[in-house]
Amino acid sequence: MPIDRTRWREELSKRYSANPACRCICVDDGWKDIICDLYDELEKLGIKYEIAQIKEKLGGLRFYVDIEGERTPLRVDMQSPQGVTSGYTQDLSEKRKKFQALINEAEKKSRAVCEMCGAPGTLCGTSYVRTLCEKCEVLWQADRAANA
Ligand SMILES: [Zn+2]
Repeated sequence: MPIDRTRWREELSKRYSANPACRCICVDDGWKDIICDLYDELEKLGIKYEIAQIKEKLGGLRFYVDIEGERTPLRVDMQSPQGVTSGYTQDLSEKRKKFQALINEAEKKSRAVCEMCGAPGTLCGTSYVRTLCEKCEVLWQADRAANA
């Protein structure tokens, strides 16, 4: 079922693995659609996972997950005249690759979208950077100056 975007933070927080106090979705609303699109695509793959953290780092989205069975992947041993070789079931690894590719794609997209309002954005700032549009960068810099 697609995520209810009017309550996206609440919906996503239900999928967190950490205790309730740590369920911060540490990004502004401009990335809502990127995150919700990603969530919907990941759901379609049917891989069981929990969200470890959603945050902004170096101006880009980071979407960290814990995947069920990740630490003990399904292993297949194949007997051949050369001995035993081990691998992972094709289905699992292909799905897992697709899963990671979707996350990578969303993180890449975020680097061109204003984190505050969702308009096209670019990397702003020097020591602390964020991806913002021109309007929001002005607001952000003014806010930082006021709080400095
Ligand atoms: Zn903006």
